[in-house]
Amino acid sequence: MASIELVDVSQSFDKNTIIPRLNLKIEDGKFTVLVGPSGCGKTTLLRMIAGLDRQTSGSVLIGGSDVSAIAPGQRGVAMVFQNYAIYPTMSVRENIEFGLKNNKVPKEERTRLVESISETVGLRPYLDRKPSTLSGGQRQRVALARAMVKKPSVFLMDEPLSNLDAKLRVQMRVELIELHKKLGSTFVYVTHDQVEAMSMADTIVLMNQGEIQQEASPAEIYREPDNLFAAQFIGVPPMNVGDMGQDGVRFGFRPEHGLLSTEPADAHFTAKGVISTREMLGSETIYQVRTRDHSFMIKCTEDLFSVDQDIYLSVDESKLFLFGADDKRIYRD
Ligand code: ATP
Repeated sequence: MASIELVDVSQSFDKNTIIPRLNLKIEDGKFTVLVGPSGCGKTTLLRMIAGLDRQTSGSVLIGGSDVSAIAPGQRGVAMVFQNYAIYPTMSVRENIEFGLKNNKVPKEERTRLVESISETVGLRPYLDRKPSTLSGGQRQRVALARAMVKKPSVFLMDEPLSNLDAKLRVQMRVELIELHKKLGSTFVYVTHDQVEAMSMADTIVLMNQGEIQQEASPAEIYREPDNLFAAQFIGVPPMNVGDMGQDGVRFGFRPEHGLLSTEPADAHFTAKGVISTREMLGSETIYQVRTRDHSFMIKCTEDLFSVDQDIYLSVDESKLFLFGADDKRIYRD
């Protein structure tokens, strides 16, 4: 069992409160992604779980036991960072073996482990190479393999893909999902990239300013955001938001749910506007539509309109969200 529980934890540095008071349960064997804007406290939480920083108050439980007083090396967790620590002068094999040698694991057992793990992460043909002769993705796999030899029940990853180029990042995301399936261990992954979170997570924990905004599956957080922050953080382009002109209530709709036509439509929400920008992305086109009071981004699968064209925008009632003055979602019957 390697579930993780944060019970009433808080973290302050030099009297600055970074995490006010937070409760979180991370399920055993799940791929959980902590996502949120830069500085919201994701790394702080991860370091607390790893034991690299002691929380100011509250407890950290791993597998049901309070590990607050237990040293990082004894917590059964492995951490993989953005700037992965691999030794340039050692071969891939030596890098992977390093922790095992330190722990006095016998040679035969070491060789067996290194070979099976390098097979899992696709490094078998590269075992005798130096890291400088590997690609960025391969080096990242060496870092993963180094973490894996310790057979941790929890992997903590802090933006491990952010140094890779866009194409490799997409490939490594798929590899990490597969690795998670193979290992069946608990993955806690930190990123500020909502696309990464959406594509990899079983559960997304969305944070802002040290607080959890919403905890849900990617599909749920997208379809049923609890508040304005969740609505606008998840989704590209972000949800359109407009003022209702009464008591601070705002409406919102996703760019793909706005319909454009040259004739007025019979819908709950309609507005007359003009196309102010057009961005053709291949399979879809993103238009910016200026109405009297707002500017909205609309995602269309067809490229039918041009800049400066007069247009009618409509949104089906079922696709409209409402948010109160406190930014919380107002649920309708
Ligand atoms: P990013 O996506 O940019 O990595 P993050 O969400 O991981 O951001 P944290 O690294 O957890 O954010 O930092 C949260 C806040 O805590 C920041 O304002 C940071 O400056 C502060 N902070 C983190 N560690 C320390 C420390 N050891 N001493 C003082 N302040 C710290």
